[in-house]
Amino acid sequence: MTNSSVYDLHSHSTFSDGQLTPSELIVHATNKGVTHLALTDHDTLAGLQHAQAQADKASLQLINGVELSCTWRGQLLHILGLKIDTNCQILIDGITENIGRRKARAELMHDDFLDHGIDLRAAVNQRLGDQGVPTRPHFADALIAAGYAKDKKQAFKRFLVHGKPGFIAMQWPSLSEVATWIKQAGGIAVLAHPMRYKLTRTKLIALIEEMKEAGIAALEVSTPSTNSQQIAMLSTICLEHDLLASMGSDFHSFDQPWARLGRARPLPDKLIPVWSRFESLSEG
Ligand code: AMP
Ligand code: MN
Ligand code: MN
Ligand code: MN
Repeated sequence: MTNSSVYDLHSHSTFSDGQLTPSELIVHATNKGVTHLALTDHDTLAGLQHAQAQADKASLQLINGVELSCTWRGQLLHILGLKIDTNCQILIDGITENIGRRKARAELMHDDFLDHGIDLRAAVNQRLGDQGVPTRPHFADALIAAGYAKDKKQAFKRFLVHGKPGFIAMQWPSLSEVATWIKQAGGIAVLAHPMRYKLTRTKLIALIEEMKEAGIAALEVSTPSTNSQQIAMLSTICLEHDLLASMGSDFHSFDQPWARLGRARPLPDKLIPVWSRFESLSEG
């Protein structure tokens, strides 16, 4: 690794709720100076082979990743699996389970929208294509296209959230289940965007303690929307709890200026970056 390495360890493609195909994403990342990119689609590995084909042509190191949904104390959490073995059957089975839950939820969402006189099936299916895994942003885009919302923010305010049309409560696998899938696949598990859950510090620490017991020993410390105060707070937690640190943009699309590819602030020097473990993983 050289000083000119630029890591972005959280991004999405059209295989989940991203705007760019995996190969377009690699081209965009290369243009933005990213040297190490993790593609971390929601609950699917299907985009990785396409991303690898393009990465082989570019001077970019692709890290195989995934973003898994799980439930902890009734709270939805996202756990990233980095440097995973995509052939691990336990991981594949877990992901298949989550895709099944997503598809079942999408059906219930369609039913709920129909109860409100809104038919989004054709528009959602068109956005999904053959291999896409259904996410709420697919419904948000369909709502925007049909004129029910002016943008994603409004779609996620008027619809898709608790108490609004299209919201279906989900029971995802537990924190320890997804941790096991990632561990079995030889990857590093990372708590994604810890500030997004709006937990009290006490609850965040309780989560971290449970996470560590489950084998999740890394925090996503830096994203483009994490301010310096938050980075300092998360860094202190990393040092106190012996956690590795990760950074990534959570890039989905060009209309989200707060999540530009390659734009997470560098990690403070005192932290141990997750990529310091990548080499030993590939040798092991
Ligand atoms: P899902 O995993 O299908 O429940 O969808 C969650 C995804 O929706 C997140 O990963 C974000 O990409 C997106 N999302 C959630 N809330 C918002 C919001 N307020 N505005 C835009 N995107 C959102
Ligand atoms: Mn997303
Ligand atoms: Mn997420
Ligand atoms: Mn994400």
